[in-house]
Amino acid sequence: MRLPDGRPVKEAEHLSGWGGVPSSPAKLIRPEKVRDLLPPPEPFIARGLGRSYGDAALNQEGFVLLMERMDRFIAFDAEKGIIQAESGLALDDLLRVIVPRGWFVPVTPGTAFCSLGGCFASDVHGKNHHHEGSFASHVLAISLQLPNGEVQVLTQEDPLFWATAGGMGLTGVILDVTLMLKRIETSFVKVRHHPAQGLQELIHLVDDESRDDAYSVAWIDLLSQGEKMGRGVLMTGHHASTAELPLRKEAALVNPTVKARKFPFVMPSGLLNPTLLRWFNAAYYTRQRNRGEFITDFRTYFYPLDAIREWNKAYGKRGFVQYQFVVPSESGREAIGQIVRQINDAGSASFLAVLKRMGAGSGGPLSFPIPGYTLALDIPFRDGTPELLGELDAIVADAGGRVYLAKDSFLTAERFRQMYPQLATFQTLKSQVDPDGKMTSDLARRLEIVS
Ligand SMILES: Cc1cc2nc3c(=O)[nH]c(=O)nc-3n(C[C@H](O)[C@H](O)[C@H](O)COP(=O)(O)OP(=O)(O)OC[C@H]3O[C@@H](n4cnc5c(N)ncnc54)[C@H](O)[C@@H]3O)c2cc1C
Repeated sequence: MRLPDGRPVKEAEHLSGWGGVPSSPAKLIRPEKVRDLLPPPEPFIARGLGRSYGDAALNQEGFVLLMERMDRFIAFDAEKGIIQAESGLALDDLLRVIVPRGWFVPVTPGTAFCSLGGCFASDVHGKNHHHEGSFASHVLAISLQLPNGEVQVLTQEDPLFWATAGGMGLTGVILDVTLMLKRIETSFVKVRHHPAQGLQELIHLVDDESRDDAYSVAWIDLLSQGEKMGRGVLMTGHHASTAELPLRKEAALVNPTVKARKFPFVMPSGLLNPTLLRWFNAAYYTRQRNRGEFITDFRTYFYPLDAIREWNKAYGKRGFVQYQFVVPSESGREAIGQIVRQINDAGSASFLAVLKRMGAGSGGPLSFPIPGYTLALDIPFRDGTPELLGELDAIVADAGGRVYLAKDSFLTAERFRQMYPQLATFQTLKSQVDPDGKMTSDLARRLEIVS
C-alpha cells in the first residue's frame, strides 16, 4: 500500500508494546528524513523503539510513524557536553559516542534500547530521580512537528515543551532533542549492596540517607512469604572516579562490549510458574546479598536486561504487564505493603520487581514522577490479571499515587483522571496545537485523553 504522495505503508496485523499485551493492527510508515514526515491522511502517533510496555505507541485507528531511522547526530559540543540528535537515536548508540569522550546521559531508564524521542515523550526517570529529576529537566530544546506540519523549536520556557514531556506523543512528532550530558571520569560504577530481610527493613534502607548514593534502586523478592515477605537488596552506586578504579587508567573510559544473547524462543505461557520463580528469587537473593562493595561496568549496572535480547519472550505468547506506580511518601509505605501482600497472595509476581525513591516532578502535566516511592513489577498475563490490576489501581489512587503511562495497558479513564489532576491543562494545550485531534493512540482513546 502507498499513500497518495507515494510513501510506502506496511500493514501489520499485530503491533504491541514490549509486554506483548495488548496488540492491535497498524499501518506503519517509516520516515527516513524530515520531508517524509508530512502528516498522513488519518490520525497518527510516533513510535520510537517500542520499549513502552502497553498501548502508548499503538494506533489501530490510523497510522504509526516508526522513527527508528531518524537517528542522526546533528551537533556535539564535546567541551560543554551538549548533544543534539534526531529523536529516533537509541541511547545505546548515543552512549557509544559520548562515553569514550567522558560523558554520560544525565538520566537513563533500565534499557539503552529506547530512543531520545521516546525518553522525552515518556519523561523517563532513572535510579537517580531523587537527585536529578527526570529526563526532560536535562533537555535544553526539542524540535516538535505539530500535527499541521509546522515545526516549532521549544525550550523549557514553553508550556508546550512541558506538555510534550510525558505527553506520550500526543502533542506532535519530536524531530530532535538537545540534551545536556553529565561528566564522568570512568565508564565504571562503584556499587554497594545492602540486604534487607523483609519489606519494612527494605523501605527503611531506601530512606536511609547515610546509605544513599548518586543512584539507588532496591530489588524486591515479591514471592518470599511470611516474615521474609518483601525481602530484598538495596543497590546503590555512583560513577567511579579514576582513583577508585583498580585498573589501568587508559581503560577508564571504555565502552564495554557486552555480548548480548538472544532469548531463543517464545516460552510456553505458564512455564514461569510461582514455584520456579520462588526458587529463582531465593537463589538471586542469596547471591546478591553478600556482594558488599564492588566495581562494575556501566552496562552491567544500568542495563542488565539488555544482555538478553528479546527477554520478553520468556513470558510466552500471552505476554506480561509491567505495573509501575508511584505513591507519596506519607501514605506510600502502607500502600506498598498492601500491594506486595495482594500480589503475593495472588501468586502473580515475577522476578522483576524494583523499588525506587522519587523526588520532585518535572512540571509536565502528564509526567509520571511525584515525590515518594515507585514500585515496578512484571506480572505474567493470565485470566484475572485485569481484575487484579484494577484492585491495585484502587489502592494506588486512594493513596494519592499514579500509574506510569509508559507501562500501562489497563487503567480506566476514570482512575486516570483521579491520578493525573493536571489532565485539563494538558488537554487545553493539546486542543490548541491539535484542534482536529490528528495525534492519537490506543492509550489516548482508552484513557479518554482525546475524544
Ligand atoms: C527493560 C526496560 C526497562 C525500562 N526502565 C525504565 C526506567 O527505569 N524508567 C523509565 O522511565 N522507563 C523505563 N522503561 C520504559 C521506557 O524507557 C519508555 O517506555 C520509553 O518511552 C521507551 O522509549 P521508546 O523509544 O521505545 O518509545 P516507544 O515505546 O516507541 O514510545 C513511547 C511513547 O513515546 C512516544 N514517542 C516515541 N518517539 C516519539 C517521537 N519521536 N515524537 C513523539 N512521540 C514519540 C510514543 O508515541 C509513545 O507514546 C523501561 C523499558 C524497558 C523495556
